[in-house]
Parts: sequence; structure tokens; C-alpha cells
Amino acid sequence: MSDTFTPVASLGEFGLIGRMQERLAGIPRSENLIEGIGDDAAVYRAGEGQLHVVTTDVLIEGVHFDRSFIPMPFLGWKSIAVNVSDVVAMNAKPLYATVSIGMPRNFSVEMMDALYDGMADACKAYGMELVGGDTSTAHALYISITVIGGVAEQDVVFRRGARVGDYICVTGDVGGSYAGLKVLLDQRQALNDLGDAYEPELEAHQYVIRRQLRPHARLDVIDLLQKAGIKPTSMIDISDGIASEIHHIALRSSVGATVRIPALPFDPETRAVADQFLDDVDAYALFGGEDYELLFTVDPTDVGAIDAMQGVSIIGNIEEATKGVRTYSPETGLMPLHPAGYQHFDGPPEVDYASLDSDDENDNVIRFDEDLGLDDIEVSGDGA
Ligand code: ADP
Ligand code: MG
Repeated sequence: MSDTFTPVASLGEFGLIGRMQERLAGIPRSENLIEGIGDDAAVYRAGEGQLHVVTTDVLIEGVHFDRSFIPMPFLGWKSIAVNVSDVVAMNAKPLYATVSIGMPRNFSVEMMDALYDGMADACKAYGMELVGGDTSTAHALYISITVIGGVAEQDVVFRRGARVGDYICVTGDVGGSYAGLKVLLDQRQALNDLGDAYEPELEAHQYVIRRQLRPHARLDVIDLLQKAGIKPTSMIDISDGIASEIHHIALRSSVGATVRIPALPFDPETRAVADQFLDDVDAYALFGGEDYELLFTVDPTDVGAIDAMQGVSIIGNIEEATKGVRTYSPETGLMPLHPAGYQHFDGPPEVDYASLDSDDENDNVIRFDEDLGLDDIEVSGDGA
């Protein structure tokens, strides 16, 4: 170690991961390792013709969530679902999970019960088991989950398989999760400003709030594609927004891509929220993230079958790498698409949960169960 101090922020998340990868490059590589760092999950051979995938995601209070507006059962659900989403992005099915949890002093047994009920619901819905973990105290609630999944060797799909001429597809609708976050942050502000006079205004936004607080991993799509006889050429889940995800596919596949803005699928509620906040709804889809839908590419011969599928939209094309990653709309024509915000699309700001002062245990909590009736959400089938 030298005396130099380079702030980690100077490299950014993906710069940091690249740098970690360099440090690890000296480790001899097993012949059973098929994909290491760089995809949604690592892939290794578990037996003849059988692969396992493994992924880890961490959720930290004040960084990824605000305890005052996500009910514990939803947080438990979400922490499993975001990992399942990465497994599904490899065209694999989840098998086992382990959970490491760090609990702050202001965390109760009842909160932990509710958190684990949510995890149990998600494990049941996704047909997997929770088989272990680790428990510790921490300065803020910290949940790290690892999920192992399985897939037949011929079925695995990577980020790196897109080819020029392929079509770009997306499942479900996009931008809703960010719209839900906008509503929640706005309501939280109103609650802080008005105190006892606060009247929740959540009814009109139930769908987008669910998208944010209780996302659904698209395990169903894996079966849907298989039944239709379609194996995507590449796939990724939408955790950071379409702009970032399409860049990952383009970079890993050494191709370019054009995303057709008018083809982006929005729920009317997402559009209504964007209108209300005078935002560009396209930016919600491109830069908002946390939709946990699947972004994938298919061979042109599969386009007919995709067209016939409900809930899958064709949103663009894979092109030569020299064309870069672009958007197309009739108003603006072709424009370069950067992984995060560019002048035309005013990318949404980073959310600073910490500034929302969420340490107090019971004060200023939006009561979703009472205000929204969200507790009676179906365990399975919701949004799927
Ligand atoms: P996703 O958004 O799909 O969860 P990430 O962007 O978090 O993917 O991670 C990209 C890749 O970098 C993955 O292969 C992941 O396993 C790897 N990665 C992330 N953080 C680390 C780390 N601290 N050490 C080693 N590999 C990491
Ligand atoms: Mg992912």
C-alpha cells in the first residue's frame, strides 16, 4: 500500500469493479468456470450438461431504501426478488438463497419477523429455498443475499451474445419503479412539511408504488420464451435503467444498438406521474432503473414469435459497433445514448435517502398498510 489516497468515487461503480477484476486476475481459472465477473451472475459447470449461476446483491438502509416508506415484508420480498432477477437474466431458475443481515439497535424482533415473512413469501413464489446466512449488529439495516440458480448448458444466455441484425426486446412496462419513487419522495416531503396536517395522496399511484416497493422478477418469462421456442441471443435485467443495460449488452457483445423511443412500453400511471412532475417519461425508462424487467435480443427469425407474445415489446435493433448506442425518435432523429443522463433527456437525480432523516423509529412513517391497503397483495401472479 502506498500513501496515496484516491477516493473510490473517482472511479465510479463500474470502474471500481474493473479495478477489482485486475487485482484478481492472478487467480488460476477453473475449467468449470464458464463466466466470472461481468454478467448478471457467474456461471459454472455443476454436472454433465448442467450449469449453476450465482449472484449477490446488497440492500443498505439510507442507500437503497428508506425504512420509513418500505414496509418490512416488502423489503424482505424485494431483497429476494432483485437476486432472482439476476438469475433469470441468465435464463436460469433460482434454487437456493443465503441471507446475511446486519441489524441496528432500533430494529425490533417484530420487524425482523415481518422482514423474514416477506423473504419466505418470495421464496415460495419463486420456487426456491432459503438455506442459511449470517447475523450481526450494524449501524444501519444491511441485507446481503446470495442466490444460486440452475440451467441446462444449452439454455444459458449471456450479456455477450447479441449480433448485428438482432432485435431488442423488453418485457412488461418500464419507468414505473422510478415513478413510484418520485411519488414516495414527494409524499415523504409533504409529511415532513405538514406534520399532523398531512393527508396521504397515494390512491392514484398504487401501481407505480408497487413497482418500486415490491418488484417482481420475471421468472415467468423464462417459461414463456421456452414454450415459444425462443432462446434470446443476449439478456440482462433492468436494475439501472435501459440506457445502462443496453450499454452493458453492447459493450460485452461488441455491437452498437438503437432504441426506438416511441416503442418504449409505459403504464398509463407512469405517464401520469411524469406529467404531474413535468418530467420526460422516457427518462424514467432510460435512466430510472429498478424495473426488474428483462431486456433481451433475439435473432430476426424469432421476431414473428415475439410479436405474437403478450407483454413483450420490440424496442430497437442491434447494429455495428461503430454506430454506437443511440436512441431514435421522429422528433429528434438519431441521438447518442449515454449510460446515464444526457442533455436532451434530463436524467433523474440520484436519490439521497440519507438526507431524508429516516433514523427516527416511528415518527413520520407513511402507513402503507392503512393508507394503501398494500398488505393484501397476492403473493404470486402480481405484475407477472
Ligand atoms: P447487477 O446490476 O446485474 O447486479 P453489477 O453491476 O452489480 O450487476 O455487477 C456487475 C458484475 O460485477 C457482476 O459480475 C458482479 O458479480 C461483479 N461484481 C460487483 N461487485 C463486485 C465485487 N465487489 N467484487 C467482485 N465482483 C463484483
Ligand atoms: Mg442484473
